[in-house]
Amino acid sequence: MPREDSSWDWDRKSRRYRGKDTGRYMSHGQVTNLRDKYTDARRTTIRSLVRETLPLNAKADPLSWNVGVRVLREKGWREVERSMIAQYTFGRGGTNAMTSADRVIVQQMLRDQKGYWDRFMMEALQSPDMSMEYAANRATMYADASTAFYERGRETAFDIRLPGHPGDGGTECLSRCRCSWEIVERKTKVEAIWHANGGDNVCDGCRGRAAQWSLLTFERVTEGT
Ligand SMILES: [Zn+2]
Repeated sequence: MPREDSSWDWDRKSRRYRGKDTGRYMSHGQVTNLRDKYTDARRTTIRSLVRETLPLNAKADPLSWNVGVRVLREKGWREVERSMIAQYTFGRGGTNAMTSADRVIVQQMLRDQKGYWDRFMMEALQSPDMSMEYAANRATMYADASTAFYERGRETAFDIRLPGHPGDGGTECLSRCRCSWEIVERKTKVEAIWHANGGDNVCDGCRGRAAQWSLLTFERVTEGT
């Protein structure tokens, strides 16, 4: 996970993952933990790629720097894109749950991210003072942003519209956010609770969201009425 894991199935009725052997549902904490573990793994991959591709800084070796940035623009983006698609798919309930509407949503979200990535790469080409470590740190923010893709996938799985998402950049922690929406399917409604995760590091904006969005309720329209 979030790559397909054969030991868990998506249960369409409850919209939760369930162990194939045990039949037990994965808790909100467990699923969020997998989301974050995956984000962390992607941070490491993307950081390593930047370190392998760029010289220590632009000034010392402008030629290699420029070549490296051009490589990263393509190769780095492919890694970023892969992270984001995987997280959306995981939030949505796996590859089998993905519909054409989901692909449209993902493509739109990716288009925005690609715009930011290209601007970042352009800036790297034009900044003689940029260092490899700076570029690597900034690139990891794109791995972090995959969290918002996961949350968006989840929202779609429950067929609701939430007012914001962890990692959407709407709070001070930007894409680094580790908050989560707990979404619960009830008989006639869906409930969504914003959990501010991250201990003492939770930013004010996320604290505010946790207070404001401590319980959102979406009524389900019953068929035939
Ligand atoms: Zn947050």
